[in-house]
Amino acid sequence: MRNEEIRGSENGDRRVLVIEDEATITEFLRIGLSYEGFDVVSASEGRSGLRLATEEAFDLVILDLMLPDLDGFAICKRLREGGSETPIIMLTARKEIPDRVAGLTMGADDYVTKPFSFEELLARIQAVLRRRGGGEAGNLIVSSGIAVNSDTHEAHRGEERMNLTRTEFAMLELMMSHPKRVFTRETLLNRIWGFDYPGDTNVVDVHISHLRRKLNAAGVEARDVIRTVYGMGYTFRPTDPESPASDATVE
Ligand code: CA
Repeated sequence: MRNEEIRGSENGDRRVLVIEDEATITEFLRIGLSYEGFDVVSASEGRSGLRLATEEAFDLVILDLMLPDLDGFAICKRLREGGSETPIIMLTARKEIPDRVAGLTMGADDYVTKPFSFEELLARIQAVLRRRGGGEAGNLIVSSGIAVNSDTHEAHRGEERMNLTRTEFAMLELMMSHPKRVFTRETLLNRIWGFDYPGDTNVVDVHISHLRRKLNAAGVEARDVIRTVYGMGYTFRPTDPESPASDATVE
């Protein structure tokens, strides 16, 4: 992994605190968030997390509800009572959903239920940061005659709206946000389907093929923009004349 080397620009210098006791989830978040350019600090216990959140400055806290010592509600409550306005996104298990209302009244900004895909969490993060006024626009990406809008989840080719599925849109949006970067099938699977998706990577090829078919139907040379990188995966290669060609970076 070379996460430190490939930072997204729009999130540069943003610090995220992850308070989560499950190491696999922490690692999943660390990889994804670093990739998006966030600085990630993590705590695996409630008390140490609360201490970090109180003593250091963060742009966002991702807070697991069930922690071994001090739970997410208590942490949230204490932070708000202490005057902290740092946005908080709570992670909860599906069976804990009825606690949603309690979580939000404790001052969390949003919540995401496990299992979740990274793109789902990222969308919430961006929405929360935008609501808090810290987010740059960046909701519309236009390249190679294709426009994707992260707010409306719509993709257009000129005036024509492409009828993409959620998965197809997520793949296109992800690759267009990182042009020329090569995404392995494993990365796409992790990012779009979630870290605990039980299927194999063939599903990625199937959805890429559907996406290309829809792009072709809209008049885009799909194989030119969504390139297969043999033995590695896929990359979005802009065809705009002003985009200088350069070697793809590989995750
Ligand atoms: Ca937990």
